[in-house]
Amino acid sequence: MARFIPIPILLLALAASAQTRRVLIITDGEGVAGICRQDQTDPNHPELRPLLTGEANAAVQGFLDGGADEVVVWDGHDGSQTLSAMTIHPKAKLLMGALGYSGTLERRYSAVAFVGQHAMGNVRNSIMGHSFSSLGIQYMKVNGKPVGEIGIWTAMAGSHGTPVIFLSGDQAAVDELRALVPDAEFASVKEGLGRYTCLTVSAERSREMIREGARRAMGRLGQIKPYVQAGPVTLEIEYTTRSSLPPDAGMRQGAEVVDDRTIRFRGASLADAWRLYRIR
Ligand SMILES: [Zn+2]
Repeated sequence: MARFIPIPILLLALAASAQTRRVLIITDGEGVAGICRQDQTDPNHPELRPLLTGEANAAVQGFLDGGADEVVVWDGHDGSQTLSAMTIHPKAKLLMGALGYSGTLERRYSAVAFVGQHAMGNVRNSIMGHSFSSLGIQYMKVNGKPVGEIGIWTAMAGSHGTPVIFLSGDQAAVDELRALVPDAEFASVKEGLGRYTCLTVSAERSREMIREGARRAMGRLGQIKPYVQAGPVTLEIEYTTRSSLPPDAGMRQGAEVVDDRTIRFRGASLADAWRLYRIR
């Protein structure tokens, strides 16, 4: 019997191989090398802008070196006031502003990466670790397990079949993603000895590590699996005392008020529960 590949399958395979490889980089401030104090996380601080820009651009270059066709950089720290179209890598696109509950992940990037990422709240030896809000949120839990930005975005990406392939940040942030995606590539640019006490590499070294890590990660695209959070999901958020729940909290769709500072949402998937929490 003659062996041949049916033409529709051949066309599909060609289309898949020609598919644009688009990477979304989620940036933050607290996990950038050299950022160890709260005052340095202000976008107007003279160090944060050049330090984060240097790391983001190193990651862009690394992904391009590794074969990415397009790299989108989200300025995710404190209201998108840190990165600028004037200084972002000329081949990158800058994503500015709030992204809503979905984080634009419905655009189905080929991969997601974190740059300048910090760990979730309440983790020993994390540098300025917090879960979405250091002043507003005490902890967040998914099915009883603490999560932060890394856990939520990694699972949200996974719900669209998108893997998280790279993270740069402090050692605690690296450990947090490694527990979910052991095969990802990492650049640990500083070590927390306490919340505001850190041992950091130089800006120059962090850029080398990040560019190299991003290039390696891109080369391994396809081997790094999306993280899938099994459903059903209970999402619990405990606010800080100053952020006690408003009077109408219990009237929100799907909301279950646990106590004065704690609210719970249930969904068939993480995306469902997260949507209930984030959309009002
Ligand atoms: Zn953050």
